[in-house]
Amino acid sequence: MSDFVYSANPGRVIFGSGTISRLGEEADRLGVKRIVVLSTPEQEEQAGAIAVNLGARTVGLFAGAQMHTPTDVTQNAMDLIASRDADAVVSIGGGSTTGLGKAIAFRTDLPQIVVPTTYAGSEATPILGETEAGKKVTKSDPRILPEVIIYDVDLTLTLPVGMSVTSGVNAIAHAAEALYAREANPVISMMAEEGISAIARALPLIQANPSDLAARSDALYGAWLCGVCLGSVGMALHHKLCHTLGGMFGLPHASMHTIILPYALAYNAHAAPQAMQRIARAINQERAPLGLFDLTRKLGGQIALKDIGMPAEGIEQAVDEILAKPYWNPEALARGPLIRLLTAAYSGELPADDLFQR
Ligand code: NAD
Repeated sequence: MSDFVYSANPGRVIFGSGTISRLGEEADRLGVKRIVVLSTPEQEEQAGAIAVNLGARTVGLFAGAQMHTPTDVTQNAMDLIASRDADAVVSIGGGSTTGLGKAIAFRTDLPQIVVPTTYAGSEATPILGETEAGKKVTKSDPRILPEVIIYDVDLTLTLPVGMSVTSGVNAIAHAAEALYAREANPVISMMAEEGISAIARALPLIQANPSDLAARSDALYGAWLCGVCLGSVGMALHHKLCHTLGGMFGLPHASMHTIILPYALAYNAHAAPQAMQRIARAINQERAPLGLFDLTRKLGGQIALKDIGMPAEGIEQAVDEILAKPYWNPEALARGPLIRLLTAAYSGELPADDLFQR
């Protein structure tokens, strides 16, 4: 056993079917009485139902959450929080809504209850990515970590199959990078392998029947574990690539993660053989990069960056930015191999393990 450091993030998790009925009880447990409910415009109706469910504890509803947490949207929500003298936020939705709740908590230290409806995993992390004047800045702070997560599997049944696939592979990416993180430790690695395995076995069943409650439950459980991985150890090349491409070209978050992951793993395959073995075992395939590529392809997910809006001439520019402010990565980052990686991901080439070796 190698030496390691493990620090756990505090947080209370309620998991199951119909658990949304426990929201009021959880608010009372936190001792909060003036709640603002947050959602995207698309989930306003669900947020409205929650506001009703909370009864007199609800003092407002803000249904303006947007992808990448723009600070002007946060300011609008902050105005409502101040005008209603709110003492807590309840965020219902995916990573975008959770991001807004976190941005408010970072500024006010108000407690958050998050009701996740995708597999993004943000609810389990003390990390916030905000966008101001087109630049995404990431910060980590204990105030950002939500106090309570209520996972209600029933609320994920409406997540369309396409989004379930991309969101699920987005979660797998957190766990995959946790397995070769600089701060990797046996507890998080155990969660990572279990999280990848739960999602990988659930996605084909969800594709066949989006109302399969047992599969939805496995996927959401896996998403939580993968979120814990993201919140506990540092991420590497995969997350750096996605962060860079998302910021530069506004590519859709979850699809971009799904496309990039097999290539980032192929890049790191030789430097992190044990992590690759564990990922391959978790997805029940021989090779991690090709196995994930095949999984996405079979599930009907997109496999090429050119199909989600990446401009071909952006590849060199993106590599320059990655090298200007690199993340730690098990394999050394170098211009030639990184250009090969993005060129292959651009066209959806097979991510063979030796594709990027110098
Ligand atoms: P999202 O939250 O943007 O949701 C996409 C769309 O799906 C929205 O319109 C949403 O309302 C809708 N939706 C969500 N759940 C639904 C459901 N069950 N049924 C029907 N529609 C539903 O997408 P996302 O991928 O969950 O989140 C992406 C954002 O989260 C990005 O901004 C990303 O940076 C951030 N994120 C942050 C962290 C972190 O730790 N800070 C981790 C992961 C993702």
